[in-house]
Amino acid sequence: MKALQGATQEVYWNEPLETMPWADVLAWQSRQVGPFLAALPARSAMYSRLLAGTDLRIRSLEDLQALPFTLKDDIRAAHDQADAACPLGSNQAAPTTDIVQVLSSSGTTGAPLYYALTAADVERATDAIAHTFFTAGIRAGDVVAHLVGLPMVAGGLPYADGFRKIGAMLCWLGGFPTDRILREMRRLRVSAMLATTSFGLYLGEQWAQENAGSRGSAGEDRYVAAALPASALRKVLCGGEPGLNQPEVRRRIMAGLGIDHLRETMGLGDVIPAMWGECARSDGMHFNAQKHVAVELIDPATGDTLKWREGAIGELVYTALARDATPLVRYRSRDHALVTGVDHCACGRTSPRMRCIGRTDDMLIYRGMNVFPTAIRDLVVQGFAGRCEPAVRLWREVPGQVRFDEPIVIDLEAAPSVDPVSYGALAADVETLVRSQLQVRVTANILAPGTLPRSVYKNPLLVVRQ
Ligand SMILES: [Zn+2]
Repeated sequence: MKALQGATQEVYWNEPLETMPWADVLAWQSRQVGPFLAALPARSAMYSRLLAGTDLRIRSLEDLQALPFTLKDDIRAAHDQADAACPLGSNQAAPTTDIVQVLSSSGTTGAPLYYALTAADVERATDAIAHTFFTAGIRAGDVVAHLVGLPMVAGGLPYADGFRKIGAMLCWLGGFPTDRILREMRRLRVSAMLATTSFGLYLGEQWAQENAGSRGSAGEDRYVAAALPASALRKVLCGGEPGLNQPEVRRRIMAGLGIDHLRETMGLGDVIPAMWGECARSDGMHFNAQKHVAVELIDPATGDTLKWREGAIGELVYTALARDATPLVRYRSRDHALVTGVDHCACGRTSPRMRCIGRTDDMLIYRGMNVFPTAIRDLVVQGFAGRCEPAVRLWREVPGQVRFDEPIVIDLEAAPSVDPVSYGALAADVETLVRSQLQVRVTANILAPGTLPRSVYKNPLLVVRQ
């Protein structure tokens, strides 16, 4: 289908699929996924077991709802079946000779899981990633600093492939020390960059200092700094963790880096590392993987499918329309989304838009009530903008602690303008706001600005007391 081949165009990566009424996209997807599902039990021992006794004839995409979910635990169990012939275990659905790449989950919750790709899988993923970055404003003329330094994670090599697919000039600076990154971004006249939201925030702070000329005392550093050209940075893509839904975080990154083009992107390494990305409207991320993946919204408690409507909250569930090496059907992402739009967007795209509000893996239970740590952070950062820095840390008393009967301890940084004598009053205000808005008790520690560690990857929001 020639019209559906990805091509670099001015406005859209894939105009027919992006502007087609969404119901027609779903009908098109149902025709793609049928043959893939029918062949799956013969290819994957895991799916032969999971799909036993189910009707795999797909007349419309709603027929997917009759199929069981695939859970992270299923993938973990499949890994345990690994042997020399199938290093990926019982969900390895392609011979090892056909597999050209393995990606790793971050491993923040247990041993890392691996996902494999054949050359065709890489091509499909790269198309979706390029599509996502294109929606977020990256173009062939951009000089892109890719600041994720770990090639094997979802945001590593796959993102690099996505930028090259668009035809942008890839400058993979991730992994170098921050001062070198900042310097080389100038020397290479970088016009766009991609980083985790944590690192974007950190880089914004460093960038502003660099511009103020306050960095570096060695003669050589001053010489290099003096010789650097002005920043050519115009576009910034951030994501990989919730955070950019906070206006204060957005404002900081844009002011720090001196840009007005800031877009959020998100994906799932297990499925495709970038599937969601913001258009110029910047009101939630569009789904950009419609050529390769079907997405559902479900109630995480009941498993019921939810309708995509503005304001709906649910867990994202993905089904690959084609996947050779490690296929996934109705895979529960554990990402919770707030739907921000389903109508035709001003940009002309028809896919739904959402913001990620947290992960099931991060959910805490305070005296029987579920609360996302990100909800506490968002509330505090927003409610105390100007009095607190957007740097927050919550403490677990023991590794893996989910249940809290005592107040959750939260560290915050005061803004530089706040007098340390009023830290006690600020802490009391934080505790009152969180209790009144979220019905959760916290004990707030107010720290001096710059105290909390900054990371070049993702800042852990929850840390364990040593
Ligand atoms: Zn849009």
